[in-house]
Amino acid sequence: MTQEILDLTAPTLDRSFLVALAPDEKLRTCIQCGTCTASCASAYAMEYTPRQMWRMVQLGLKEEVLNSKTFWLCSTCYSCSVRCPRGIPLLETIGALKRMAIAERIGPYKESINFYRAFMDVVRRYGRVDELEFMTRYFLSTNIFSIIGYVPLGLAMLMHGKVTIKGGLRMAPRLVGISGAGRLDALFRKVEELEAEQ
Ligand code: SF4
Ligand code: SF4
Repeated sequence: MTQEILDLTAPTLDRSFLVALAPDEKLRTCIQCGTCTASCASAYAMEYTPRQMWRMVQLGLKEEVLNSKTFWLCSTCYSCSVRCPRGIPLLETIGALKRMAIAERIGPYKESINFYRAFMDVVRRYGRVDELEFMTRYFLSTNIFSIIGYVPLGLAMLMHGKVTIKGGLRMAPRLVGISGAGRLDALFRKVEELEAEQ
């Protein structure tokens, strides 16, 4: 975690940041108790702990928050949302942060954005993750040559029967015969409709 001193007199403070993320403004009631940080298994790897990040959102430090990896490291475990004594819907706000970073193309974690897109596209198609297609989509959307670094992992998976080259390179077990997998597509389309109305 950085111990960086943030300049709160900076002219770039965006006072509309909090409202844009959480229109109900419940985040303003955060008392900085730190329960969210104490509950977060990913906090050790974040530049700013969840508690620090929520204070930064209150202050309007939009660039600093969106350029951090804190919210990208959230594993959506819901612990902070469940335990927050003020009942603030923290996980929904983390989702809003991700959507904002994607929409405004802010942040050094564009690879994370590609990762999420590839993951969701595959889930939409099959109703669950097909790891092989997921990783193929992800590598194609980033630097295809980065796949070279994963060759040892691929070979290890092959040796342990996690993938098979019988009838073409495939994950084991292959996603066949999953009934109603396509129905998820209707859900995705509905969410897209609702988001377009916002
Ligand atoms: S648990 Fe809730 S009130 Fe406490 S610091 Fe986190 S967001 Fe603020
Ligand atoms: S939902 Fe995200 S931020 Fe909250 S405790 Fe879990 S991993 Fe941490």
